[in-house]
Amino acid sequence: MNRISHWIDGRVVESTSGRSAPVHDPAQGVQTGAVDLASVEEVDAAVAAAHAAFPAWRATSLSRRSEIMFRLRELVDANRKEIASLLTAEHGKVLSDALGEVARGLENVEFACGIPQLIKGEYSEQAASGVDVYSIRQPLGVVAGITPFNFPAMVPMWMFANALACGNTFVLKPSEKDPSVSLLLAELLATAGLPPGCFNVLQGDKVAVDRLLEHPDVAAVSFVGSTPIARYIYETGTANGKRVQALGGAKNHMLVLNDADLDMAADAAVSAAYGSAGERCMAISVVVAAEGIADELVAKIAERIPAVRVGPGMAPDSEMGPLITAEHRDRVSGYVAGAAAEGATVVVDGRQGVSGDGFFLNPTLIDGVEPGMACYDDEIFGPVLSVKRVEGYHDGIETINASPYANGTAIFTRDGGAARQFQFDVQVGMVGVNVPIPVPVSYYSFGGWKASLFGDTHMYGPEGIRFYTQAKVVTSRWPDPATSTVDLGFPETR
Ligand code: NAD
Repeated sequence: MNRISHWIDGRVVESTSGRSAPVHDPAQGVQTGAVDLASVEEVDAAVAAAHAAFPAWRATSLSRRSEIMFRLRELVDANRKEIASLLTAEHGKVLSDALGEVARGLENVEFACGIPQLIKGEYSEQAASGVDVYSIRQPLGVVAGITPFNFPAMVPMWMFANALACGNTFVLKPSEKDPSVSLLLAELLATAGLPPGCFNVLQGDKVAVDRLLEHPDVAAVSFVGSTPIARYIYETGTANGKRVQALGGAKNHMLVLNDADLDMAADAAVSAAYGSAGERCMAISVVVAAEGIADELVAKIAERIPAVRVGPGMAPDSEMGPLITAEHRDRVSGYVAGAAAEGATVVVDGRQGVSGDGFFLNPTLIDGVEPGMACYDDEIFGPVLSVKRVEGYHDGIETINASPYANGTAIFTRDGGAARQFQFDVQVGMVGVNVPIPVPVSYYSFGGWKASLFGDTHMYGPEGIRFYTQAKVVTSRWPDPATSTVDLGFPETR
């Protein structure tokens, strides 16, 4: 059985906590490994390593930090397949999807290569007579990243690339469900030339998270995961004086208007709902269909579902893999049963036709879903697409804006004016116009609104640089000593 341990101060460190959690191959339904779960003392050791590495790392030149990011970029690029295979083995997502995850994570390393440009301050000469004012951005210290199971490579890269480039040191607490890839990333960072202690991996659960949230030497916490935990992380971390950004769950709506290209909309809905078995925070989980096209659209989606090839992620022709655990698969199945009981119509029932011991569930389509039904209100996080019928644009926008979640959304239409109005009206952080999964490129920032994000800063991109630095403003004068006098008046600039 594969044992998965910590990475502290530049090497693998086995836990002595005596606690571990099982890691599965979701396609086979078998346990393949056991991940160590950190004790409070092990958290303290990881933070101490990061704390000790910070002074030298923050003093490292911007060119050197940039050089290490460039080298990491080359190493991740050269190891795409190995990283992706590890993702597939523990998460279950199909290999092509795992390669996509690596590619989107890598964008963030590429962005961080530009740190000398990104971290520049501003300078005002002659703000007062002989006085110059300038701003600089400095790192925070030790920062922690706590990440979800669904993107075990990309989400850590969202965080640590910018955090390290800004001069911080980092403690990553990955999901205990698919922890191995974090150790591979740690090795690649070390090979790229990152000094020991700058990047640490702490395998663990709530014990590790809670200690990170209260540790006096942790300056900031980035979190991605479900909404209840995101809220808890934000409230606890900020109560302990830390800077926190906590991204939560989602329920992403795709509004399809009467004038949309329905084949394109149906293709997009199927891709965005069932890709990665719906275990994406940017998955489309509700199609909001205008009444004039709803019947036709539902038929077109239903007609495409049997063609989705469900199978083990390692099989080259699989398009959709299993869910992460048996418990999660059963929870998702429960929503399908509940939807029928609550009066919705299960058009395609993914509980049928499943065989083998893997944690599989086939694509499911539910029509006639309404707010108040559990399958509409809750984040299901599985291959279940609901259809909510509306009269048209106004009804649609009201539905979307009434949702407590506000991560991503999309509109499908041929009407540019309607699309522009949607962008203006919709209360959601990331918006697609005929694009179902509008994950921003790495030089913009990622984040939802409302219960999909707690904190003020979105993740990665320019907001990532702001999150991982604090601003300092220097007011400077180099007077002629001969002109020096005592002056108790408040300094004026004119
Ligand atoms: P999760 O909230 O269960 O776990 C996330 C992290 O928190 C893990 O590292 C886990 O170990 C830790 N954790 C879990 N329970 C905890 C507790 N009680 N106290 C302290 N720490 C705890 O999320 P998950 O199931 O791993 O991931 C799926 C969720 O993440 C979905 O809700 C999805 O929408 C969300 N997600 C959001 C985004 C986004 O950008 N908004 C991106 C990816 C995933």
